[in-house]
Amino acid sequence: MTTKTIPGAARRKTAELRETRIRTLGRLPGKAVSFRVDEVRLPDGRKAVRGYMEHAGAVAVLPVLDDGRIVFVRQHRYPVGRDTLEIPAGKLNGPGDDPAARARAELGEETGCTARRLTRLLSFWPSTAFSTEILHIYLARGLREGVPCPDEDEFVETVILGFREAWALVRSGRIKDAKTVIALQAWKIKELENR
Ligand SMILES: [Mg+2]
Repeated sequence: MTTKTIPGAARRKTAELRETRIRTLGRLPGKAVSFRVDEVRLPDGRKAVRGYMEHAGAVAVLPVLDDGRIVFVRQHRYPVGRDTLEIPAGKLNGPGDDPAARARAELGEETGCTARRLTRLLSFWPSTAFSTEILHIYLARGLREGVPCPDEDEFVETVILGFREAWALVRSGRIKDAKTVIALQAWKIKELENR
């Protein structure tokens, strides 16, 4: 990997990029997500404030039926005020929660599907600027359809789409959910690699 130094930072060493916590200014604890504000020391010695979300991590599953169609869930997302089309997903219950087991559980609860094969596609940080969240994406194949049993506060509807149809919705902006877009791309790239 090559690094390019930006003007003005020319005399700074890369080892000095780190920001360190001086103190926590506030914390709003939640069930799986907490909000926190820290005062930090910048590499040049100045101080700054960093507000961010402490997140236990999450999993998402791309469920692909034997005929190649994908099982999505439609649900209302309060922060964006819209009904979204997403792949099934859920937060981890803590550091001891096994991501693959959580992925199978979310798949079952939200779509009713059980999977014979679950393979990890990738893990990514959705928002490094303001969240500690890591999200693991799995591909589920060998699906058997069943009856969904969502959480009490979860209202979801199953929508089955072919890849082309789904990708057209990404292009048109109807599907904007990051993990869903990334999962669709990662699956197609994996198929290219396996050719
Ligand atoms: Mg869920």
